[in-house]
This record gives sequence, structure tokens and C-alpha cells, in this order.
Amino acid sequence: MRAPWVQRQRRVKARAMPRRPPYAPGMAPPRLLVVEDDEAIASGLARVLGTQGYDVRLERRGRPAVTAAADPIDLVILDLGLPDMDGIDVCRALRRAHPDLPILILSARDQELDVVAGLDAGADDYLVKPFKLSELLARVRAQLRRAAATERPSEAEPLQVGGLRVDIGARRAWLGSKELSLRPKEFDLLALLAAEAGRAVTRERIMYEVWDTDWLGATRTLDTHILALRNKLGGDAITTLRGVGYRLELP
Ligand code: CA
Repeated sequence: MRAPWVQRQRRVKARAMPRRPPYAPGMAPPRLLVVEDDEAIASGLARVLGTQGYDVRLERRGRPAVTAAADPIDLVILDLGLPDMDGIDVCRALRRAHPDLPILILSARDQELDVVAGLDAGADDYLVKPFKLSELLARVRAQLRRAAATERPSEAEPLQVGGLRVDIGARRAWLGSKELSLRPKEFDLLALLAAEAGRAVTRERIMYEVWDTDWLGATRTLDTHILALRNKLGGDAITTLRGVGYRLELP
């Protein structure tokens, strides 16, 4: 039976909710804290997020949620209408204690002004009930990706691999003193390989991080991009690790 808080979906379910891991292969599952007092919504969210591979913890009240976030948590899904504490205050308390923690707020339709207050209180994104599960999952993935990207020190300082310099923030790369002309996905691929220079990067991870898919049927695209990068970097820079992936090394 369809949960009443989920927006009615037409028969696009299979396409709207692709079976794909919500995190890069080889990583520990992200830990999500769901703060929601409505029993049906809370258990529904826990179930759906659980089947997607997330490690889910539930809190029904605001105050314990602020305490719970002291444990390592990667993202909070926060309902604004809570019994013991205003969700906006919970958001503010979470943001104060954890400046980098992604917070996704849920609000009922008659709380639209609260959404603005929630964003002002430090929330990163919001969904208005009823929402589509596929949309919630997409927002969760986007927030986790954004958080992971800002954690990487490479964002701040250009990466130096031998004679190659990659400035991820500026999206520019140089080989020696010559700036490379790279298409967007070529840059993303090079940035990933450079961040892991000297180490193997699996095709699965590349497909996930650069193309946002776990569909390995799309790897012909990857081959084309590897070839383009080899032409620009010199043939020896990228080693093919048969059946595994690639490794970038530059003298
Ligand atoms: Ca509620």
C-alpha cells in the first residue's frame, strides 16, 4: 500500500528509482540521521533509505537529535514540525555544532515560510511534503557528494603530479607551463585520477564520480576520454590496470 505522505507516482517507478549504490564503491555506507515524529513517515524513510544501502538512525524528537548528531553523521533529514522543539531551532543548533553537516529539511505544505527560515538557519536543501522518494534520494545523493567534495583538500590547493598541475577550484590544468585544453568530463576524470595519483582508481568509481552512474555499459565513453587524456598528457601518464581501472603517474 502506498504511504500517504508519498506523492502519487505514475508508472515511471523503475526509471525514477534506479538501483544504484548511493555512495562510491568501496566506501563505508553514509550515516543518515532522520528526525521525524510521524511514525509512518519515519519508518517509511528508514526502510527506503535502508534498502538504498544507507546506515539510518531515527530520532522522533528534536532535543535528542541534536545530541545524536554528536556521533559521526554524514547527513541529517530534519522534519520541521517536531513535538518538543521547533525544527528551525534544531536546525540552528545542528548548524552551530556541525558547520559542515548537510541538513535536508522536510516541511508540510503549510510551512512554506518555515522553509525560508530553515534555509536561513543553515539548512542546505528542503523538500515539501508530499515529495517523491526518487527526489528525496537524489537530493540526499547530491548533498553527500557536495559534502565529500568540500572535504577533499584538493579543492583548496592545486594538485601537483610530476609536471602536471590541476586546479580543481578553477577547473584548469597545466602540463609544465602549457595549459591543457580539456572538455568538462575530461577535466573531471583527470581531477579524480590526479587526486589519487599513483593509486589504482576503479572503473566503477570513475563511472560513479564522473558520470554519476554505475552502469558499466557506458564505459566506452570512459575509454574515449582516457584516450583523449593520453593524447594530451603523453602516452605513459595513464596506466591501464586490466580488469580494474587506471592509474595516473607522471615524472
Ligand atoms: Ca512532524
